[in-house]
Amino acid sequence: MSFSYGSLSRPRKFVIIGGGPAGVSCATTARRLGAEVTLIEGEIVGGGAHLLDCVPSKAMISTGSAISMMSSAEEMGLVNVNVEIDFESLRDRISEIEQTLSTGFVELLESQGVNIVKGYGKLVSNNAVEVTSPDGDTSTFDADVIVLSTGTRPRVPDWAPVDGKRILTTRDAYPPEELPSHLVVVGSGVTGVEFTHMFNSFGSKVSLLVSRQQVLPGKDAEVAMVLEESFNHKGVDLHMGARAESVESTDDGVVVVCEDGRRVEGSHMLLCIGSIPNTENLGLESTDIEVDGGYIPVDHNMLSSVPNIYVAGDISGKLPLSSVATRQGRKIAEHAMGLHQGPHTHIDYDKAASAIFCDPEVADVGVAEAEAFAEGRKVRVTKVPFSSIAKAHINNDSRGFVKIVSDPATGVVLGGSIVGRHAAELISVIALAVSSSLTITDLTESLFVHPALAEALSEAAE
Ligand SMILES: Cc1cc2nc3c(=O)[nH]c(=O)nc-3n(C[C@H](O)[C@H](O)[C@H](O)COP(=O)(O)OP(=O)(O)OC[C@H]3O[C@@H](n4cnc5c(N)ncnc54)[C@H](O)[C@@H]3O)c2cc1C
Repeated sequence: MSFSYGSLSRPRKFVIIGGGPAGVSCATTARRLGAEVTLIEGEIVGGGAHLLDCVPSKAMISTGSAISMMSSAEEMGLVNVNVEIDFESLRDRISEIEQTLSTGFVELLESQGVNIVKGYGKLVSNNAVEVTSPDGDTSTFDADVIVLSTGTRPRVPDWAPVDGKRILTTRDAYPPEELPSHLVVVGSGVTGVEFTHMFNSFGSKVSLLVSRQQVLPGKDAEVAMVLEESFNHKGVDLHMGARAESVESTDDGVVVVCEDGRRVEGSHMLLCIGSIPNTENLGLESTDIEVDGGYIPVDHNMLSSVPNIYVAGDISGKLPLSSVATRQGRKIAEHAMGLHQGPHTHIDYDKAASAIFCDPEVADVGVAEAEAFAEGRKVRVTKVPFSSIAKAHINNDSRGFVKIVSDPATGVVLGGSIVGRHAAELISVIALAVSSSLTITDLTESLFVHPALAEALSEAAE
């Protein structure tokens, strides 16, 4: 489809810097709408999400879950099940997934006529981007629309001399050169919790430093409690109120020192303390763009302070999720091509579903019970434990629950939390209900499969 924009008689020229989920979805949508698109990627198309963070971590966790299932095989009627990890095969499995995904993206982009340029891009004005190729050659691309989607990288504090061997970031862990005998994980947000689960299931001893009094600060306390219990049950050492401030290397490991003087010994340390935006070498100073702490503030349409420079994905400082980055990229293409301009098309970040891939899985969307009570908002909360669902017993895993938050006057579903096996899949039903303003009656009237974990959703809605 070709699209004419304002007084331009030629196609709009998009130059996108960064080929992660945000850049790729922007490129494919803009191209479909008739724009001429150049996508600049410094490393591998697919970005952090598919190649460095999201997908490889989930691939490791999936292998870890298989190990956990094997360890309870006897309860499923199996005997003589022995599990041995072959790290070479695991490494091959992960790089094969990465290669398959990256190749798929490149093929998709090329089939649509996106011009992929290998190299690092930087702004040289509000309308031009200079690219330095891997050979050091430079070329300049003029643009009507520039999209910045360069993602983030792990935050490393001054006190942590990361060496990729004993002192690690998450990107050194797919898998690390050797399995840590005792891993000290610094940070108990989503990433810290996922990596604690991952290494625990591989058989490492894990100590988790929790800077406050609850893992997953900000999440529903009841949800956090189920996870803490599970970690305690699996022998993870939880150090509550432990804020790391330095690390010492020893002959055969590390000692992480906390602000209150606690010293936690291990063979390796893993930093899980958030990310920083890849914006410092982006030539922002050559433009009129506003920057705030490395992130680039945007309006509802993902526009920066410069009217033709959009920002997508993690560097926008919005919700750092791959799903959100993809949606933002698409939104930018549509907006810049003159489509979907009204407020009803603004992304509602409060309705984004998210999941934590640990054991049991945790997922939530929309209004949380604790948040509603803190705001004095009247809500109806219903909760069904998986122990009352046949499929959970068939799966030999009846931990966790489904909680649905709704409006007591209208019955409209406002949010929900799920803890339990396949929570990340099941939450999609509640996410759809929240984004489409479905009522709890809509859920109870739906005829779900039996036996299935999803039956907990219709029961929770009753
Ligand atoms: C350990 C971990 C696990 C995660 N798990 C999940 C998950 O389960 N689910 C989920 O939704 N999200 C997850 N996330 C978050 C998710 O990875 C990010 O939200 C997502 O990657 C953001 O996409 P993006 O397009 O903004 O950036 P990225 O995916 O980081 O892509 C940015 C791209 O830009 C390129 N680039 C940077 N600078 C330049 C330049 N100057 N020139 C050219 N190219 C450049 C980079 O090479 C990279 O390919 C996880 C994050 C981490 C750290």
